[in-house]
Amino acid sequence: MSADLRPAHSGAMGGGRGAAVAVTALAKRFVAGGSQITAVDGLTISFEPGSMVAVTGASGSGKSTLLHLVGAIERADSGSIDVDGVQVTELRGKALAAYRRTVGFVFQRFHLLPALTALDNVVAAVLPYKTDFDKRARAREMLAAVGLAGRESSLPGQLSGGQQQRVAIARALMGRPRLLLADEPTGALDSRTGAEVLELLLRLNADHGLTMLIATHERHVADRCQRMIRVADGRLVEDVVRRADAAHSAPIAQA
Ligand code: ADP
Ligand code: MG
Repeated sequence: MSADLRPAHSGAMGGGRGAAVAVTALAKRFVAGGSQITAVDGLTISFEPGSMVAVTGASGSGKSTLLHLVGAIERADSGSIDVDGVQVTELRGKALAAYRRTVGFVFQRFHLLPALTALDNVVAAVLPYKTDFDKRARAREMLAAVGLAGRESSLPGQLSGGQQQRVAIARALMGRPRLLLADEPTGALDSRTGAEVLELLLRLNADHGLTMLIATHERHVADRCQRMIRVADGRLVEDVVRRADAAHSAPIAQA
């Protein structure tokens, strides 16, 4: 693959590799209907640069909230998040916006803009920003990298679910992220298409070393990742690291 998917090489946010992430005593509460819900409850964990981690747990266990906190979509109530030495929880204003641009997000339901072509959806990720690359040229490269060369002019409605998720992944790669956060990326896809999207994510991780956190409740997705953590009621209850080569071998059938 010739496309340059490498993370950004310079700037205040670090060098050309996946991000190192360290979360310490992280907590987030929500108030809903008069009662308080602790979505993330004192979580401490770290992720090595280039690791591919499945974040598992039942619905409501805090997976999405953890991703939103790490990506600074939501603000923690307490605790800290360190990404390559940057204290994310202390960022404000322009520094916070700059941090967010170093993180790629992929969602379950793609979140593409229906009136824009695949190419324009990908360009949209960086449209407001000054970049050191040609936006449309890079968008074409990213679409090719996810296997969608030739579909640049298609509207989301003309693409299958798997193709739409590939567009969303290309969009997430536009800003040369060092961290990719994927929230149930295969959850809206049939199992074969979901497996193809997962293979794409595994390949991007293996070839380009960006750190990936993938929230999923699908066992077969978690089985393909180097590391699996499980949360329950916002707490870490399991942390399994597999052999380095295990992510590329077929999962062992369950008894
Ligand atoms: P998961 O992704 O594992 O299904 P979430 O992180 O979405 O879990 O949610 C964890 C808990 O926090 C759930 O009880 C959920 O209802 C609650 N929650 C998440 N986001 C909000 C919100 N914006 N307002 C109120 N409660 C929320
Ligand atoms: Mg969720």
